[in-house]
Amino acid sequence: MNYFEKLLIANRGEIAIRVMRACRELDIETVAIYSDADKNALHVKYADEAFHVGEAHPSKSYLNMDRIIDIAKKSSAEAIHPGYGFLAENYRFAKLCLDEGVTFVGPNWKSIQAMGSKIGSKQMMCNAGVPVLPGTDGGIKDIDVAKKVAFEIGYPVIVKASAGGGGIGMQIVNDEKALEEAITAGMRIAQSAFGDATVFIEKYLQKPRHIEFQVLVDEHGHAVHLYDRECSIQRRHQKLVEEAPSPIMTPELRERMSASALKVAEVSHYTNAGSVEFLYYDGNYYFMEMNTRLQVEHTVTESITGVDLVKQQIAIAAGESLSFGQDDLSIRGHAIECRINAEDPLNNFAADPGKITRYRSPGGPGIRVDSGIHMGYTIPPNYDSMIAKLVAWDSTRFAAIKRMQRAISEYIILGIKTILPLHYAIMNNPQFIEGNTHTHFLQEEQLTKTLERYQLDEEARMQTLAGSFEQGKKIAAISAAVNVYLRGKKQ
Ligand code: ADP
Repeated sequence: MNYFEKLLIANRGEIAIRVMRACRELDIETVAIYSDADKNALHVKYADEAFHVGEAHPSKSYLNMDRIIDIAKKSSAEAIHPGYGFLAENYRFAKLCLDEGVTFVGPNWKSIQAMGSKIGSKQMMCNAGVPVLPGTDGGIKDIDVAKKVAFEIGYPVIVKASAGGGGIGMQIVNDEKALEEAITAGMRIAQSAFGDATVFIEKYLQKPRHIEFQVLVDEHGHAVHLYDRECSIQRRHQKLVEEAPSPIMTPELRERMSASALKVAEVSHYTNAGSVEFLYYDGNYYFMEMNTRLQVEHTVTESITGVDLVKQQIAIAAGESLSFGQDDLSIRGHAIECRINAEDPLNNFAADPGKITRYRSPGGPGIRVDSGIHMGYTIPPNYDSMIAKLVAWDSTRFAAIKRMQRAISEYIILGIKTILPLHYAIMNNPQFIEGNTHTHFLQEEQLTKTLERYQLDEEARMQTLAGSFEQGKKIAAISAAVNVYLRGKKQ
């Protein structure tokens, strides 16, 4: 029996295709939605059916809840998978699905709502005995109280938006003089980005690691964790490289952190797949937030556990019990993911959408590429710059790094700039190879030199490629001429 006959994917690009792949394996028909900018996108071609959802701007298409529900009904899709971004962590959308009789493939809306508030969720976890960083008890209402708290916990502190995401509005404050201005600016940014001006402060850790745990919880009270991921390599608080397991994990630390992660899921009455994010520093860890959705980096967990997280999400949403328990799970090898963004790493990461004039993705043992791009495809400027995820798996961390280096050197994307050269530099960096990473790794390691060197290699590589391309054209022209000659002889 199928979990569902038909499922709508309320997303685009590589994640829409990722979800559709799981559906195809499960014999579930898929419905794509697309904006004006995505008429020729691969996710539209991959789906069994596709419906136009609106104009290019996300608010007129991928965020248009009513229109998406209409399409689900029109196409008789019984379930909606939101992917990540867009509506994935919008509790109103999850509730709307419930009210309209369409299954939302994700957590129940109440958990999404509870975890949508960084302040509320931190408070909840503190009450449950999960370690959190010291800071203001709730939203800042009085600057003098904020100053007092900051003084007590000690500078630097970080100002964060309670409803925040994507690192937006976060500011590091080094002394009291800068606090008031940071709070005012934080509130302004939070209001315009999230429609909620509430900000709070907490202790800022100088060079922590970002370590998170994947959890799966079914609707019958069974919960498991699928180990840890290290996501410390970030730019502007946004992850660029993720790996599983964390290079510093010990059985004892894993025991403690996974127990906390499962506690977080339990006290928030969580269901479906989620990630519990912690900051780790000097032997201690602190709950930061829970992401109530599939994450970009779910791939590395899939690689080391062999569990297809999207299939699990769908099965749980259909009311199935988890078919395995904690003791059935184990870690096999090591996996690394590089997020491939259409950005120029040598020009302050400026977005570089445009036409892909040549494309060849890597393959071979242990390599996975999730992407929505191909040769001749024009990346629209309207959406996130992440265009592909490159994942390498091997039996040890070092072997996975070598494999990733090899895969990057095989990856050819011409016509646009990507951060592939930066990934190459990271994969060759001695500190990274040693596993010595933290959230300030990129600023500290000054990868520009390696980057420039790789850029030269890259040019040579591309030239050879372009050369063989030219040669290919010549060969085609010669064989065409030969054909014409032969045809002439026959007559
Ligand atoms: P968002 O939800 O906006 O992505 P998070 O709370 O998940 O924000 O934090 C994202 C990143 O910001 C973390 O991985 C870390 O690098 C940095 N960060 C957040 N809080 C702190 C803190 N208290 N100390 C140091 N770094 C922090």
